[in-house]
Amino acid sequence: MTVDKHTTGLIHHPYVPPGGFEAPAPGVFKASTVIFPNTAALHARAWKDKSGYTYGLHGTPTTFTLEERIASLEGGLQALLVPSGLAAIALVDTALLRSGDEVLIPDNAYGPSKELARHELAAWGISHRFYDPMDPAALAAMIRPATRLVWLEAAGSVTMEFPDLPALVRVARERGVPCALDNTWGAGIAFDPFDLLPGQGDAPVGVDISVQALTKYPSGGGDVLMGSVTTRDEALHLRLKLSHMRMGWGVGANDVELVLRALPTLALRYEAQDAAGRALATWWQGRPEVTQVLHPALPGSPGHANWQALSVQAAGLFSVVFDARYSAAQVDAFVDRLRLFRIGFSWAGPVSLVVPYDLSTMRSRAAWQGTLVRFSLGFEAVADLIADCEQALAGL
Ligand SMILES: *Cc1c(COP(=O)(O)O)cnc(C)c1O
Repeated sequence: MTVDKHTTGLIHHPYVPPGGFEAPAPGVFKASTVIFPNTAALHARAWKDKSGYTYGLHGTPTTFTLEERIASLEGGLQALLVPSGLAAIALVDTALLRSGDEVLIPDNAYGPSKELARHELAAWGISHRFYDPMDPAALAAMIRPATRLVWLEAAGSVTMEFPDLPALVRVARERGVPCALDNTWGAGIAFDPFDLLPGQGDAPVGVDISVQALTKYPSGGGDVLMGSVTTRDEALHLRLKLSHMRMGWGVGANDVELVLRALPTLALRYEAQDAAGRALATWWQGRPEVTQVLHPALPGSPGHANWQALSVQAAGLFSVVFDARYSAAQVDAFVDRLRLFRIGFSWAGPVSLVVPYDLSTMRSRAAWQGTLVRFSLGFEAVADLIADCEQALAGL
């Protein structure tokens, strides 16, 4: 029986870890040491697959269970867990890139991913360039023999441009360069990262790697840091897994438990925060204080047509650009007056959050100017959140 992988599949999942026990929630197993019955078992047991257990870092029933659920949520076949979303990006970079190689990163990528390239990767002799994600032809022109990885992100961080993802994937595939998507925004819900283009025969193709900050939607609580690296190719997975092991990227069972507990409501939470985000973004479109509302699902937002071609769903996240007559200090004061929106990074938790950004410091390619405020929707009533924005604007 084929079931909906965003809802039913996260509750009635076919994967059962070794050992017979059943309850609505999977058990939580904690181990550094795994005990072997005898030396023959010690010598025979494999750590590269899920046929047995060897050491806590190589997997427990608890981590295997979450890996399997994330892989099927994303439409992949294998997943690895790491201590944060940023660690997931770092795992991909460090496993696939060597001295002399180059990585291409979208100009609107998650900021710390760019910092990782500027500092750690650069120190290891790995170069990077930032590309305009809204121009697939420009990406094609930038790829050269040293280019060994292309990062993708949809929508982009903070400025929320939605790229033509299938076109970017086609460029990377045609040049034989692996592409990795930061799929935190889509969360495995908004679109299928491994099914973006018609492939040979019937099987569609997509990105080679999808990473997520499980910190965001899959956790949904604002209380866990975790990342995942999902693939659909055994050889690529093994390459990443070997690097994962050698670098010692373990995750704690208590954190895995929190994500497993939250996964059955992932699609409901995504949908609720999407509806709230669109309602509030639409309200902001009618406000004279802002010149632009950046939300991929709103007509007029950069890349709206690209989003529309790929999805009907969006994360509960958007930004507004304040009119140039307001100084950064005035916008900060507006943010400080908000009562329900709390000031803080991250998103997809229960509390609505807000962060002001200075656009002129953020992009190397696009001409963004002014002060932008990013809102992420929690689970408060939308009418209350609108009233909160209204009272804070009244003081501008
Ligand atoms: C939050 C986030 C990350 C990093 O996740 P952490 O778990 O906070 O390290 C990476 N990419 C995107 C798009 C994010 O929003």
